[in-house]
Amino acid sequence: MLLDYNSLLLAVGFSAACLSLTLFGTWLAARSDRFLLTWAISVLVVVMEVFAYDAYIKAPGNALGVLTLALLLFGFSVMLGAAHQYRTRRSPVPLIALGAGCSFALALPPMALGYDGLGFMLENALAALLLFGTAYQYWRGRAEAPVHLIGVALLYSLTAISFVLCAAVLAWDGKMVLGHAPSNWAEDLSLVIVIASMTGIGALSLALNQGRLARHHQREAQTDALTGLLNRRALFDLHGRTPVSAFTAVVVFDLDGFKAINDQFGHAAGDEVLRVFAEVLSANLRPNDIAARMGGEEFALVLKRALPEMVEATAERIRLAFAARAVETESGELRCTVSAGFAFGSNEGSSFDKVLSAADKALYAAKRGGRNRVLDFRRAG
Ligand code: GH3
Ligand code: MG
Ligand code: MG
Repeated sequence: MLLDYNSLLLAVGFSAACLSLTLFGTWLAARSDRFLLTWAISVLVVVMEVFAYDAYIKAPGNALGVLTLALLLFGFSVMLGAAHQYRTRRSPVPLIALGAGCSFALALPPMALGYDGLGFMLENALAALLLFGTAYQYWRGRAEAPVHLIGVALLYSLTAISFVLCAAVLAWDGKMVLGHAPSNWAEDLSLVIVIASMTGIGALSLALNQGRLARHHQREAQTDALTGLLNRRALFDLHGRTPVSAFTAVVVFDLDGFKAINDQFGHAAGDEVLRVFAEVLSANLRPNDIAARMGGEEFALVLKRALPEMVEATAERIRLAFAARAVETESGELRCTVSAGFAFGSNEGSSFDKVLSAADKALYAAKRGGRNRVLDFRRAG
C-alpha cells in the first residue's frame, strides 16, 4: 500500500467526524428529519471506534478489544436504526437494541476471554449483516427516489461485502487467538472501500434529505393550513390549464351567513365551522375527487367522470350533512348552512375559469333564491 494502514485509518476517522458534524448541522438547521440525528450519532460512534481501534493496533489488549468491537457493532446498529427511521419515520430504538443486543452477545464474550481471532471474525461477519440490513432498508424505500436510494443500498452492500471478506480471511486462517489486530489484504481493501462508500453515501443521503425538504415545502405551499384541503393555487395548478370536458363538473360552495357567525360567536368559532365543513366535504367524496378551499368561506370541488344527477346528489348530500351537523364552539353549539352552484365543461372543452365562473353564477342564484340550496348553472337563469 502507498499509505500505511494507520494513517489511512485515521483519515477515515477524521472524515467520518466531518460527516457526523455535517449531518448534525443539517439536522439542526431543518429539525424535520430525526433520522439525520440518529445517523449523525451512528457515524460519531464509528469515529470513536476508529480511534479505539487505532489504540488497539498499537497496544492490543482484551479490554480495548472489547471496547472497539462494542463501538463498531453499536455504531452499525445505530446506522441500521437510522435507515429504518428514514424509511418508516418510526423510532429507531427497537432495531438498535435488537442489532446491538444480538451482536454483543455473540462477539464480545470470545473477545473478553482472549479469543481475539474468533472475536474479530465474528465482529466482521456481524458488521456485514448489519450493513446488509441497512442496505435492505434503503432498497425497500427506493420508490421515494430510486436512483439515490439504490445507490445508497449498493454502497452499503459493497461495504458489507468488504467486511465479509475480512471475516472470510480470518476464518480461512483459522486462528482463535491472534494477539494483535488482524492485518491482511482484506483489511486494507475494506478500509479503502469504507473511505469511498462513506463519501458517496454522505453525498447521496444529504441530497435525499434536500429532496424531502423540497417536497415538504411544496406540499405546504399547496395546502390550506386551516382545513388541510388544497388551496386555491394548488387547484389552479392541477386544473387551471386543462380544458374541462362535458363530463367534468366544478361545484362551488359558500357558507351562508358566515359573517354573522363570526360576529356572534367569534373568529375562532368561525374557524371551527370551516374545519367542520372541510370534514363534511372530504367525507362525501370519491377517492379521485378534488376538494379545495378557495379562500374565506368558499370551497370548490372538481368531479371527473360525472353526470348532472350525480353531481347534484353529491352537493345535496354535503349540504344536508352540513346543515344537520351541530358545531361545538367555546361560546356554545351552533349550526350553519351552505349554498352551492355547479357547472360542467363542454364537448369541445371549456376553460377552467369559465366553468368556475358559471358555477359561481349558479351559486349566487342559490343565494338569491334563499340560501341553503344547490343550483345547476343550466337552471340558474
Ligand atoms: P352569504 O350568506 O351571502 O355568503 O353571507 P356571508 O356572511 O357568508 O358572506 P360575507 O362574504 O359577507 O362574509 C364572509 C365572512 O367570512 C367575512 C370574513 O370575515 C369571514 N372570513 C373569511 N375568512 C375567514 C377565516 O379564515 N376564518 C373566519 N373565522 N372567518 C373568515
Ligand atoms: Mg363568500
Ligand atoms: Mg358566505
